[in-house]
Amino acid sequence: MNQFKGVFLGKVAPPCIRAVNSQKCVRVGGKHNDLEVVGTDGHHHTFFEMLGNWSFGDYYKKEACQMAWDLLLGPYRLKPEDLVVTYFSGDAIIGLPEDRECRDIWKSIGVAPSRLKGLGAADNFWEMGTTGPCGPCTEIHYVNPDGSLTEIWNLVFIQCNRETDGSVKQLSRHHVDTGMGLERMATILQQVPSNYDTDLFQPIIKAIEKNSKDVSPYTGSYKSDALLDCAYRRLADHARMISVCLADGVFPASSLNLKQIMRKSFKISTDIFKNPNLLPLLYDEVVQTLGSTYPELISKAPDAKVIMEHEGQAYAKMRAGLVKKWKELVVVYPEVEAMGDVEMAGFPLGYKEFKETMSKHNSTIVPGELVFKLYDTHGFQEDIIQRIADLNNLTIDKKGFWKLLSKHKQRHKTSFKEQNSNKGLLFDESIDNLLKNGYKSTDDSHKYNYEV
Ligand code: ATP
Ligand code: MG
Ligand code: MG
Ligand code: MG
Repeated sequence: MNQFKGVFLGKVAPPCIRAVNSQKCVRVGGKHNDLEVVGTDGHHHTFFEMLGNWSFGDYYKKEACQMAWDLLLGPYRLKPEDLVVTYFSGDAIIGLPEDRECRDIWKSIGVAPSRLKGLGAADNFWEMGTTGPCGPCTEIHYVNPDGSLTEIWNLVFIQCNRETDGSVKQLSRHHVDTGMGLERMATILQQVPSNYDTDLFQPIIKAIEKNSKDVSPYTGSYKSDALLDCAYRRLADHARMISVCLADGVFPASSLNLKQIMRKSFKISTDIFKNPNLLPLLYDEVVQTLGSTYPELISKAPDAKVIMEHEGQAYAKMRAGLVKKWKELVVVYPEVEAMGDVEMAGFPLGYKEFKETMSKHNSTIVPGELVFKLYDTHGFQEDIIQRIADLNNLTIDKKGFWKLLSKHKQRHKTSFKEQNSNKGLLFDESIDNLLKNGYKSTDDSHKYNYEV
């Protein structure tokens, strides 16, 4: 929704008053970070496609709810008893009352009161980030055969803006932004148990099965062991995310998130599936399932594979060095063994700095500055920082961290744009250079304390 922010805030005239779209979504950091959940369930991905319809000051709640219901019950042939609907039950801090209008709309559409539930801000007040357009939302959930619910569609009524001072102000015009998870809807329509059983993921899972070597002591195929299945799901998910990002021109050298997810994938490929070269093979499967929709996956395939291979080699080198350093670290800080994870980027130096700083810091809260340093200088992802805090019975100052992170991203964006401003499309030119000159990851070895 980023490109429409100005429209919602009334600063830019809308390009049209209604729109429908499909967005590529990656949720691996910040407010909507799903990275840790991925693989543990069947419906959260790092990359997914979100289908949506938009109203820029045109239709509002009544029409949005009616259209969603008509699509689900009409062409998609769902039954009302398959669905549960939630709406905003109000929040004193935000200063908004229960969204009775929304509740009554659903009632008049025919949703039974027993299938209609009011929920608080955590579930039914949608926010883009720490600031920006926001508003009450209403969510449609699918009732799985085991009775559990999967959220399929979120209808957001954009009527507010979260200001930098944290207050929520009303906007002069009202808008609609809805998001439906394509993979989740595919699961329902294909009548399979999880997103990984749909035709979007099955070819990738089959390719992992076919190309993995000696995955004993398991039988080796998907759905033979709970832990192994989680690895299958993670790798299949990450392969899509990495492929789509590389084809879009995101570089692991400039995106720490991408770099770390690539490393996680190399780790799974090496440790579980005993084939460090799975990623380039899986790229071809992603092309098979998504290439016709996103042709850049096809045109950028050679570049993407060069990057994958380069990063794979760098990973193998790094790993050899880290195993040695890890062994030294465990002697000084025996609790580290419980992390069980040899190859967190920058771990030995970062952990030492963390322990030394916290021993001087008289508090059980890890300050935002230290969290940011672990992230930026030592290359730790948020989930790993959380695990380090848990291991030491500490909590982390997330707000302080996010503030520093958003400042850093702003700076990074500006300098990246400046560097590339004369080169036409922001990333495409870099890809061409890459092919001409060969790919070389930024020399950030000093940052992560490993030898690339
Ligand atoms: P959930 O509660 O399941 O985490 P959400 O409330 O965070 O979902 P929204 O931000 O409302 O999700 O996004 C709109 C829709 O996008 C969701 O209704 C869902 O269908 C889909 N979606 C959200 N997150 C993911 C994800 N990580 N992987 C796949 N689909 C997702
Ligand atoms: Mg979520
Ligand atoms: Mg939700
Ligand atoms: Mg939602």
